[in-house]
Amino acid sequence: MAPAACHYDAVASTSASAGALLRHVRTGRARSRAELVALTGASRNTVSARVDQLIAAKLLEEGGRGWSTGGRPPTLLRFNSEAGCALAVDLGVTSVDVAVTDLSARILATVGHPIDIADGPGVVLAEVDRLAQLVLAEAGLAPADVCAVGVGLPGPVEFSTGRPSHPPIMPGWHDYPIPSAFGRYDCPVYVDNDVNVMALGEMGIAGSVQDVLVVKVGTGIGCGVIVDGRVYRGAQGSAGDIGHIYVQPADGRTVLCRCGNENCLEAIAGGGALLRDAIAAGLPVSTTREVVELAAQGDGSALELVRNAGRTIGTVLAALVNFFNPHRIVMTGGVAQAGAPLLAGIREAVYGRSMPLAARALEITVSDAPDLSGRVGAALMAIEEFLDEDSVVETLAR
Ligand SMILES: [Zn+2]
Repeated sequence: MAPAACHYDAVASTSASAGALLRHVRTGRARSRAELVALTGASRNTVSARVDQLIAAKLLEEGGRGWSTGGRPPTLLRFNSEAGCALAVDLGVTSVDVAVTDLSARILATVGHPIDIADGPGVVLAEVDRLAQLVLAEAGLAPADVCAVGVGLPGPVEFSTGRPSHPPIMPGWHDYPIPSAFGRYDCPVYVDNDVNVMALGEMGIAGSVQDVLVVKVGTGIGCGVIVDGRVYRGAQGSAGDIGHIYVQPADGRTVLCRCGNENCLEAIAGGGALLRDAIAAGLPVSTTREVVELAAQGDGSALELVRNAGRTIGTVLAALVNFFNPHRIVMTGGVAQAGAPLLAGIREAVYGRSMPLAARALEITVSDAPDLSGRVGAALMAIEEFLDEDSVVETLAR
């Protein structure tokens, strides 16, 4: 076995399992049997036999001929993204979006509906079930076509079991076996917190090997940690919970956080904090969205509040940049829609406080499609697990 290469060479791993071959074709790294042989170092016979299995399972298909480098031109391979579909569920506090996608996370049909997450799992998941049947019917698909289900929800989740763990704003959901609500689909169900799911959505299907922090600033503040293009969840699944990191506000005040500690990041710079400070400053607002809109219209006090929130978030991100040295930071969530003034505060703090080597090529951007990334991410989570190396080997064995 060859020694592990530097992580940017990880795609040229020695694995030539059917799942690994499928991944190379899906991500565009190989387009023919010959390229798969070159990429994996496996024998031509091994690659051909596994490709035939993948074609028989309808996951790969042959199409067209490539350029010849002497001799017969190679038959091109492509991923059959219509071999099945995924159900994507993006659960929020006051609404849910359900989508059915093909196996490249292209949305085929989607529907959204208001809910109250505090109604508990029985009521909310019954509504999700109804919406899922609706989108499947609209896309002309049957429950048997669903290969995997992905669910994102606004609270901590034990990923291995799909059970929420003491979610602070979801009464009645603690330890609820969410996968059991999708029994009619007879397929695996994956559940994760909304921030990790959005992070996957931001990365897209291409399987980039970048290291990225996806920071959601809504009522709370959370961070999806992407290492080599994959979500890093940590030992118990709570990696990236940056909302409760201690910060020292510029004005020296002390603020109690809903977690019981003082001066947590989200108690100083989250959406709730922004609204509280805006009301205290006499602004005519009753929701965080209104503060964000005022800032967008150029209101001086609202701009200053958003910019200060950006600076506070930026001091925490500067520490994370020094520690993690990401390629990119992507801001998302309701407060991130304030765009320029929030980014200005964040950039000022991050570039001012990070080490030059880590900050030199760092990109900080706002999500292009924050409303879509929850659904696309939930679909990608389900698809990536369904087409994971071991799962593909199991699928082919059946
Ligand atoms: Zn806290």
